[in-house]
Amino acid sequence: MDPELIKDCVHCGFCLPTCPTYVLWGEEMDSPRGRIHLMGQHAEGTPLTGAMAGHFDACLGCMACVTACPSGVRYDRLIEQTRAVVEREHVRRPDERAVRALVFALFPYRRRLRAMRLPMRLGRRLQPFLERVNPSLGAMAELAPAAVPRAVRLPPLVRARGPRRARVGLLTGCVQGEFFPQVNAATARVLALEGCDVVIPPRQGCCGALSLHSGREAEARRFARRTVAVFGRAGVDAVVVNAAGCGSSMKTYAEVLADEPAWAARARALPVRDLAEFLAELGPAAERRPLPVSIAYHDACHLAHAQGVRAQPRDLLRAVPGLELREVADSAICCGSAGTYNLFQPAAARELGDRKAERVLATGAGVLVSANPGCSMQIAAAVRRAGGGEIRVAHTAEVLDASLRGLDPDVLGRPPKPRRMMR
Ligand code: SF4
Ligand code: SF4
Repeated sequence: MDPELIKDCVHCGFCLPTCPTYVLWGEEMDSPRGRIHLMGQHAEGTPLTGAMAGHFDACLGCMACVTACPSGVRYDRLIEQTRAVVEREHVRRPDERAVRALVFALFPYRRRLRAMRLPMRLGRRLQPFLERVNPSLGAMAELAPAAVPRAVRLPPLVRARGPRRARVGLLTGCVQGEFFPQVNAATARVLALEGCDVVIPPRQGCCGALSLHSGREAEARRFARRTVAVFGRAGVDAVVVNAAGCGSSMKTYAEVLADEPAWAARARALPVRDLAEFLAELGPAAERRPLPVSIAYHDACHLAHAQGVRAQPRDLLRAVPGLELREVADSAICCGSAGTYNLFQPAAARELGDRKAERVLATGAGVLVSANPGCSMQIAAAVRRAGGGEIRVAHTAEVLDASLRGLDPDVLGRPPKPRRMMR
């Protein structure tokens, strides 16, 4: 943990009201200021105790504290460094180790994730039993989407409709690609309709976000190098990412690969843009058709706090004729998804999910829009728990796609048939 970064904290406490774990428990050591204090103690020689590791593990990595901090404390770098220390120095219980081994053997690998889709869906029925065996397994079963369209293989190149304005790469992601393939298809169509050649390298793998956010440094670097190499070869103006967690990690590749200057330079040469951010910079070209629907927009933490992308998705949605945008109260507070948080810290994640579901349902909107697959699954599960049934969840890309193609708003949140996916 970098003592220089720790010193930047002046202990003012402005970050406390935005920290989800402080909001839940009111404990100083579960606030950003408290955690930075613990980091300082360890940096000065105090050995890492189980209690300290617990406070670090309880942090969602949501970066609300980074947004709130007037002193510019790099809590994002600090918690990444701290998680790596926890991984090296803290011995977890055997059941925790087993769950972590399962998650990291599964989630960053699309083929393995694909093989898990059916058991996960069936697992929903076994949720109460799995919950008793292990709360993380119970959470996994509860989060499984109700209906998952069969994954489609996207073509390696989707040509721009009309005059070409840019050539972009598209990251298809692991969870996004397997559980929400319709989002990738919609993203490619929107980009093409806005005049982009869309390169979709078939051999791209995991971007390394889950590994990076969990302190698995070597694994994160391996995934980062591979992603940089794949998109570097594609010769694109930008890599467009539609999953907030992936985009926020990819934007830090140069820091992740800082010890390997040649790779860091290649990472810097590859501009990474969130889809909404990219479309806002590009400006609209295609005609927006009316889409009469009310939408509650959920700020994914890794988009709003980690990337500072808040206005762009809202502006894109408001520009759709007939669309009514409704704000979710306390939008800066995390929904509890936070990458693998809802699997490793299921009790806290559920509390945060329940708070978010209550506020989403209070909007009365017909569709929830989020730019992160983890948030979509987390909030949908929380709404089910609250007795709200299956909420319709869509990505910003799907809303724009429906408007650009003049579709009925009823398509939003209803997975299409696979053969229709790329039309
Ligand atoms: S990253 Fe989120 S959970 Fe962690 S200390 Fe900051 S605000 Fe709290
Ligand atoms: S992290 Fe920033 S806002 Fe929070 S106590 Fe330290 S200086 Fe203040």
